[in-house]
Amino acid sequence: LDNGKSKNEIVNYRKKHLGKTLSLSYKEPLKIVRGQGAYLYNEYGTPYLDMVNNVCHVGHCHPKVVSAGQNQLAKLNTNTRYLHDNIVEYSEKLLATMPEKLSVCMLVNSGSEANELAFRLAQNFTGSKQLLTVDGAYHGNTSACIEASPYKFDGPGGKGAADYVHKVTLPDPYRGKYQGENTATDYANDVAQVIADIEAKGEQVGTFICESLQGVAGQIIMPEGYLTQVYQLVRNAGGVCIADEVQVGFGRVGTHMWAFETQNVVPDIVTLGKPIGNGHPMAAVITTQAIADAFVNGMEYFNTFGGNPVSCAIGNAVLDVIKQERLQENALTVGHYLLNRFKTLQEEYSIIGDVRGLGLFIGVELVTDRETKTPATDETGKLVEFAKAHQVLLSTEGRFYNILKIKPPIVFSKRDADIFVNVIEQGLKQLNINSN
Ligand code: PMP
Repeated sequence: LDNGKSKNEIVNYRKKHLGKTLSLSYKEPLKIVRGQGAYLYNEYGTPYLDMVNNVCHVGHCHPKVVSAGQNQLAKLNTNTRYLHDNIVEYSEKLLATMPEKLSVCMLVNSGSEANELAFRLAQNFTGSKQLLTVDGAYHGNTSACIEASPYKFDGPGGKGAADYVHKVTLPDPYRGKYQGENTATDYANDVAQVIADIEAKGEQVGTFICESLQGVAGQIIMPEGYLTQVYQLVRNAGGVCIADEVQVGFGRVGTHMWAFETQNVVPDIVTLGKPIGNGHPMAAVITTQAIADAFVNGMEYFNTFGGNPVSCAIGNAVLDVIKQERLQENALTVGHYLLNRFKTLQEEYSIIGDVRGLGLFIGVELVTDRETKTPATDETGKLVEFAKAHQVLLSTEGRFYNILKIKPPIVFSKRDADIFVNVIEQGLKQLNINSN
């Protein structure tokens, strides 16, 4: 059996030649060489259940997606300066899933690039650079995206908020400033205050960017009605609203194709990434005719790779597979099942402070004390290592790294859910993590 390079060899090379800012998962990193469905395999063929990867959405290396890419790669791959059917077929199919008013599709290569373009579109349309962003959010790795990401500019190595950037309170019904279900208006009032502060300085509101469900900030489900109220406030002040669906789009929430639909709003701009190409680097910005038209000022927008025939063929196959295999419905039923299994576990283990989720986007928050909600950061880390030792890949999320981040590929089955929850329960028992 040829296992290729040793782990040590790869680790050392990465440290020396690939830049020291790359990070690795786990104390003892894994070497992964193959993926299929909801599973990843190491160099010895050991399978690991992948609870984290929200990119290989329809399953790792889905054969229909792979062959769509292979076939088009063997035929043609060019930029968008020639006419080609794929970009039209793909855009038509993608736009058909969006509210009617969102009728322009611009194709790019990463979630960061999508948000970067979204900011430019919004600034052109409103004439204002003033940006509102949710505390704890992450929107990408480019300069403008870092400036829009409190997770980065307030985190290690960050330089704080730029003068045009205004944080709004994280609408977290469990641990946030206002707790409980009916807190949308309280959180919206905070946004109104931020808007008033911007206007008091003689500035005009430009853009409000918000994930339709908070990922990096802690797998949070916003209180019902939050986006409706905030969109109204932002629009009344002359601003536009971007929904970042990079993590949560494409049917993951189960009830809808897009997570913003669960909040009953229609954004002005939607950004898509991660699952869009099932691992192939592509992303998109969807917007209105009016915003797209305001971007036309004589300067060409050219993107070497965005919208190329291979990416479009792959994106097309991803949409087809979601539909043919009824994966949105699967996310709904299996997600519901998984959520309920965790809620049952919560009755037995007091360390489980909160269980929340929509479809296959779930957060399980661990606390050492349910009253004080003290984050069980150490225990969460240990549980993640325990799960890895039992062939389940899991990760943490949130400011205190005490939230189990659950967003598997949406081909995830009830059987996989049972395997996963049984490992977590075993971990809670063996690590002697408190039970009720
Ligand atoms: N927006 C959100 C919500 C994300 O989670 C990410 C990536 N984690 C991005 C944007 C940036 O996407 P990419 O890494 O593809 O540039």
